[in-house]
Amino acid sequence: MDLYPKHDIVEIISSYTPLNKKGHYYWGCCPFHTDLKPSMSVNPTKGTFKCFACGANGDAITFLSKIHKKSRKEIFEMLKIQKELEES
Ligand SMILES: [Zn+2]
Repeated sequence: MDLYPKHDIVEIISSYTPLNKKGHYYWGCCPFHTDLKPSMSVNPTKGTFKCFACGANGDAITFLSKIHKKSRKEIFEMLKIQKELEES
């Protein structure tokens, strides 16, 4: 199930933490630990994120499930409802 195009990960994460583009990647402060300098990189080509300080990593769904402390399944449900609302 592909609810989000991969490049949307930048849009999703930047609504929680500001991201700056550097080369092929985007960098921002990690929301999963007290980050003083941007340790989290976002790869829009692969649609993944990785924090080099605390090791948090995954895709857009993982990011949302960590932020909202919900399971991936719950996030899928949430996005599915959102999508259906947008399409109706
Ligand atoms: Zn981190």
